[in-house]
Amino acid sequence: MFCGQCGSPIAFQNNFCTKCGAPASDNFAGRLEEDYYLIRSKGKSLDYTNHSELTAMFTKVKEQRVLIDLGKVEFMDSVGIGSLVTLIYKTNRTKQEIKFIIIADKITKAIKGLGVDNVLEIYEDEQAARASWGLIPD
Ligand SMILES: [Zn+2]
Repeated sequence: MFCGQCGSPIAFQNNFCTKCGAPASDNFAGRLEEDYYLIRSKGKSLDYTNHSELTAMFTKVKEQRVLIDLGKVEFMDSVGIGSLVTLIYKTNRTKQEIKFIIIADKITKAIKGLGVDNVLEIYEDEQAARASWGLIPD
């Protein structure tokens, strides 16, 4: 496994990267892009078992713009959705901008059902999210 934050190899038994201190995560990978920081879910679910890994990873991100790609995620429980809303509340203080990629119909419906669709900025793919930041593909 490699560190989602700095790319250093992380020993199997370690819960944190020994180089930069980022939490090790099997579920999420982070990468610094030119114009934003990208966090991508590797797994198919965001729920009570793994949402804290996403939150821990986000806490380490210093970039102004953060794109959280949950395009692979097919299942999100209310804890998972709640954790996304919590990230948005954190940005009130940090002034960061978070955009999400969420594709699964079931999830967008659940987000609407919880009445937080006006809190989360959701796009269907990375191009659309980039465009909303005014980043034009080259
Ligand atoms: Zn690291």
